[in-house]
Amino acid sequence: MLKGKNAIITGGVRGIGRAIGETFAKQGANVFLCYKSNDEAALAAKSELEQYGTNVEIMKADVQDYQQVGLVVEAAIKAFGKIDILVNNAGITKDKLLMRMTPEDFSEVIDVNLVGSFNFIRHIAPHMIKQKQGRIINISSIAGVKGNPGQANYSASKAGINGLTLSVAKEIGRRGITVNAIAPGYIETDMTGILTEEYKGKLLDAISLGRFGTPEDVAKVAAFLASDDAAYITGQIIGVDGGMMI
Ligand code: NAD
Repeated sequence: MLKGKNAIITGGVRGIGRAIGETFAKQGANVFLCYKSNDEAALAAKSELEQYGTNVEIMKADVQDYQQVGLVVEAAIKAFGKIDILVNNAGITKDKLLMRMTPEDFSEVIDVNLVGSFNFIRHIAPHMIKQKQGRIINISSIAGVKGNPGQANYSASKAGINGLTLSVAKEIGRRGITVNAIAPGYIETDMTGILTEEYKGKLLDAISLGRFGTPEDVAKVAAFLASDDAAYITGQIIGVDGGMMI
């Protein structure tokens, strides 16, 4: 479905980002993975994904840093000639109840999740506008739609991503670029691995399908949104939550 397409995926060496990279590579896309710190995991991801026969590049960068993001986009264009797909997946949590949350806790999560997504969109948009086509997929969260106690910072960052998605979709739709967000519910990764069994039990009760999501559940939707089949879908916040919202 993605044969010959070139994609940048942020936070692409573990969890949901890693699954998106694998699904894209399996479908024939070349992938450029941006990661924050784990060189070993990045090299392992590169060699594993290369087995699917496409080009896989890795580059260390902090999504919060506008200049570094510019260098990633430049390097990806140089490596592949053009970029068709951007997946803004990198994200962090710093969960605390409001009364314990410091201004630093709040701004760090906003800087990585929301400003990081803006940084990539801002650098890739001129390139996609020039080629008159592109797909931007932002990984949001159910928390950005309905909020969550202990996640004022995270929910605000994800609600911000939803607004960013809608505005940019309106601005650059006529240039042949679609901009969508995926709002996962509870997906089993390192990010959610830190939650207590008691809390996980409560979450499970709220999921209509009766199971937690997998990174692959999210990756398959990202691959569809990145494909030519999703050409007429833009400005959508697509829930992948097993019915947690209903
Ligand atoms: P994860 O912690 O396994 O992966 C997050 C990735 O982001 C890591 O590779 C990390 O290195 C990268 N990253 C973090 N800060 C970065 C920075 N400053 N610069 C570059 N990379 C950075 O988490 P995950 O569960 O795979 O989450 C992926 C995305 O999905 C996140 O945006 C998260 O908010 C979102 N999400 C996850 C869930 C879930 O239940 N796991 C639910 C909803 C949304």
